[in-house]
Amino acid sequence: MSDPVLEVRDLQTQFPTDRGVVKAVDGVDLTIESGEIVGLVGESGSGKSVLADSVVGIVEEPGEIAGGDVLFNGESLLEMSEAERESIRGGNISMVFQDPMNSLNPTLRVGEQIAETVRLHQDVGESVSLSAEMKRKIVGAAKNGEAWRRAIEMLEAVEIPEPDARATDYPHQFSGGMRQRAMIAMALSCEPDLLVADEPTTALDVTIQAQILDELEGLKDAFDTSILLITHDLAVVAETCDRVNVMYAGEIVERAETETLFSSPEHPYTQGLIASTPRLEDADRDLQPIEGNVPDLIDIPYACHFAPRCPESNRECFEVDPEFRDVGEPDDDHEAACLRRGPEGEQL
Ligand code: SF4
Repeated sequence: MSDPVLEVRDLQTQFPTDRGVVKAVDGVDLTIESGEIVGLVGESGSGKSVLADSVVGIVEEPGEIAGGDVLFNGESLLEMSEAERESIRGGNISMVFQDPMNSLNPTLRVGEQIAETVRLHQDVGESVSLSAEMKRKIVGAAKNGEAWRRAIEMLEAVEIPEPDARATDYPHQFSGGMRQRAMIAMALSCEPDLLVADEPTTALDVTIQAQILDELEGLKDAFDTSILLITHDLAVVAETCDRVNVMYAGEIVERAETETLFSSPEHPYTQGLIASTPRLEDADRDLQPIEGNVPDLIDIPYACHFAPRCPESNRECFEVDPEFRDVGEPDDDHEAACLRRGPEGEQL
């Protein structure tokens, strides 16, 4: 079997502060196979974005990766030189952020920015072994050595109307949804193996959000790109992801296939998240918010980080670290870190 595209092993990312060390990512394991969309979901402050930044190698100082490893196609990104990492970033691994205005250069035309990315990370004359219809069109342009042409084709691929004309616009002339599409076009223009999308639709209204998620799925198929989708929004996960990891206070607390997670959530935090999320098909249902807040990630003094907010906690939960264990049906690949759950969802 081939290596996973991404394998995060026991990753620890920390930020020293005057008050102590913030353990933003505290022993996380996560795997993405080729062609998968894997969700990472949790409230804000749970460490999701720091995990994304750690994978891409853009943790801001004084933050640092204090332990563990990040393997990309079987090779450790942490053992590479900065130059090697730099050539992978933006080429084999791309990232899309919540706010495209922070990533697009306001003084450059949108088409120029995409063309520049193409020129930097790829020999546009050589990319030929591609399959999907959309890709053939794009590669057709690339073979002519025209990064600008390729930029226009990419804008067309993400359904920007009149891409020839719009490629000459500046970012401020695009709507929020179009800017996000342009970011996705830029991120995919190098045909990355992995796209890390951090809250890519959060700033957009629901209709545009749905369109962009649809496009991400279509583009994933066309470009054979695996996607790590980071969001606080369970509806986005339900819509888009093959598998889901639920993150709480620096740790993954549950992981399963999307359908399993929504039909049989086992960890009390996941159950709380689902109970507090509105659903279109069940609009009259009372929403039950999870009481309390994500804890300060400095020296959390209790073993299960969710214990003070958990409706099922007992004394043991404050003293004994919950290990990951199988909680689903045999062969379900459904795991949770809760002392009070056993195989097949047995309550302990
Ligand atoms: S270990 Fe205890 S506190 Fe933590 S989620 Fe399970 S029941 Fe709740």
